[in-house]
Amino acid sequence: MKTVLLGKTPAELKEIALSCGLPGFAGGQIARWLYQKKVRDIDAMTDLSKEGRARLGEQYEVGMTLPLDVQTSRDGTRKYLFPFARAKEGGLDSIETVMIPDGDRKTLCVSSQAGCKMGCRFCMTGRQGFHGSLTAAEILSQYLAVEESDGLTNTVFMGMGEPLDNWEEVSRVITVLTADWGFAWSPKRITLSTIGVLPNLKKYLDESRCHLAVSLHDPFPAERLALMPVEKAYPIRDVLELIRRYDFTGQRRVSFEYTMFSGYNDSPRHADELARMLKGLECRVNLIRFHQIPDFPYSTSDTGAMEAFRERLERRGVTATVRTSRGEDIFAACGLLAGTHSHGDA
Ligand code: SF4
Repeated sequence: MKTVLLGKTPAELKEIALSCGLPGFAGGQIARWLYQKKVRDIDAMTDLSKEGRARLGEQYEVGMTLPLDVQTSRDGTRKYLFPFARAKEGGLDSIETVMIPDGDRKTLCVSSQAGCKMGCRFCMTGRQGFHGSLTAAEILSQYLAVEESDGLTNTVFMGMGEPLDNWEEVSRVITVLTADWGFAWSPKRITLSTIGVLPNLKKYLDESRCHLAVSLHDPFPAERLALMPVEKAYPIRDVLELIRRYDFTGQRRVSFEYTMFSGYNDSPRHADELARMLKGLECRVNLIRFHQIPDFPYSTSDTGAMEAFRERLERRGVTATVRTSRGEDIFAACGLLAGTHSHGDA
């Protein structure tokens, strides 16, 4: 089996180049072919000698995964289906990526795992269980192989999986996205959505300058625990305590995702407690309509309840927005993908 080049840094590529008898500077050349020229084949790296390419190709491959299918919504949202080649027999064998156009913006919502082990009760991916973490190459392929690749303006790690449960690979991807030798994106174009896996959240906050979205969903610990088992290991209070140690008053932003379940978490009492928890923190709350999944006892709050909740938060000094759903007709909206999650809403 060949080793995949996608996801490697120029320093790592230099070592690979040298081991194949290529000059050290070929590491930088290979990085350019991978991340700027987006080639799918070593043979296309035409500024490497023919013999060098042949030697490289004996042990290595680019490793780009191509989509199996794409569907386009009435509102222009596009849902790509990528194969998950390492699926076990009978396991989940594909992952999804959603491209959301909005005026001049084209946001790519990427998956970081096939399935998820976090078990949030309201989430289809959680129901499907965990089938494997994606490699950096598999995540990067989502950026490189979509038709909009050259026009993407933003990205959110909000597809299938918990990105902080796959931090090593996600961190590699963020390095490629932001490095001059990679996509050279500003960290402001990147948002990672998490339910709050504390140890890796700290690493994310320390090691990147990208935005953060936290799936909060309920301010009361027992109620949140009933929705999200993670509350037991990493209580939201501890997550907030960590977040408060970082500066979100400048370019970096933090938002909180709050999916609204009628009669469960949409009362004035919830709004007041949420406002109390977030007091003094420069942030935004995104109120998200719930897309029904089978065997979940609650349905979405209606627009009136969501507006009332938003107003109550605002009156208590918390900026809040009711998010519109995108791509519902192709099941690309939050929580509606065959295997998508409900971390938040891009
Ligand atoms: Fe996993 Fe996110 Fe779904 Fe929770 S909401 S089960 S963390 S994908």
